[in-house]
Amino acid sequence: MPVLMTLAPAIRHTLQGHPENAGRFSRMGRLEELPFYSQLTWLPVTPATPAEVSRTHAPAMLESLREASQAGPVEIDPAPTYLVPGSWEAALDAAGAALTLTRAIRHTPSPLTETPPRPGGESPATRGFALIRPPGHHAGRARPMGFCLLNNLAIAVNEALSQGLSRAAIIDFDGHHGNGTEELFWKDERVGYFSSHQEGAYPGSGSIEEAPHARQRIIHCPLPPRAGDQALSRMAGDLLHPWLERFQPEMLFISAGFDGHWADPLLSLGFTSQGFFELARELIAMADRWCQGRILFILEGGYSPPILAECVAATLAALASLDQPAWPGQPSPYPEPDIRSRLARVNAYHRLSPPSSLDAANGPAKAG
Ligand SMILES: [Zn+2]
Repeated sequence: MPVLMTLAPAIRHTLQGHPENAGRFSRMGRLEELPFYSQLTWLPVTPATPAEVSRTHAPAMLESLREASQAGPVEIDPAPTYLVPGSWEAALDAAGAALTLTRAIRHTPSPLTETPPRPGGESPATRGFALIRPPGHHAGRARPMGFCLLNNLAIAVNEALSQGLSRAAIIDFDGHHGNGTEELFWKDERVGYFSSHQEGAYPGSGSIEEAPHARQRIIHCPLPPRAGDQALSRMAGDLLHPWLERFQPEMLFISAGFDGHWADPLLSLGFTSQGFFELARELIAMADRWCQGRILFILEGGYSPPILAECVAATLAALASLDQPAWPGQPSPYPEPDIRSRLARVNAYHRLSPPSSLDAANGPAKAG
């Protein structure tokens, strides 16, 4: 299966000592060693235009970002989110990389670039991964936030909607709640949003009952520290599967953040690269079942350079239809709490039954 790729490493958008710096991509060169590397089709990146990003963000915010970037370095929120000369261009590159893949997967030629190449004789690629920074899911309509300048994924979703997509599902497994993405689609019935994240972590939002107006459409799954890989697999079966079956999207957009890995310096969710691989396989299977295979992974967080490369490689292995990741990662050293009662609460709040693994065969749920 061919996999479409874009790369926007934002070399000039960097600040020494900040976790979201250009060094995050310092180990991505190892991806060339992957045995399935030839299955990856790299598309050239065209920066997003102001018109394309202004579908998602307020013009005043965009102008402010551009001007502050030129005058940087400057911190623009307490996260801290920084701007330096080159940050504005980097943000447009990242958004453009997400747009490029969205158009390619949607099979709609871009007005700015040529139709992407198709491997001869193979079926059109419906899977993609945008390896981009800075991340985007905290950025809302009128403000950058939490290391995020432009909301790359929201810009991509809005592009697809403007091109005729009628229903999109966003699955955000970054370890932080994607409050910016949620804000942007808070009232948009065409877009479903699912976020799993570490409870209590930045930005502090994302409780189970936080979006009562949008039950079955905006779903929060806050997880306890060290939730571990079993949380990912149970979440897929108990929540994502019944949700997508009900919501019937035409394309999946994945906010793929890997800061939930047990060795990430910012969070402590206890996931492994094997767990991310298994989750990606589940998501791809769901896209195959309900979305004619259309699925786009867009990078969000992940702040240990070697772990980030390992998790990206594991996701690519799933996209290339391998049975296991090429690089075995280290298992989590932490015991996993039982989260079945918590998942049952989320399931019940959104009336997503029937769940697959909350049944009596698995024993009674306890702590959560
Ligand atoms: Zn994050």
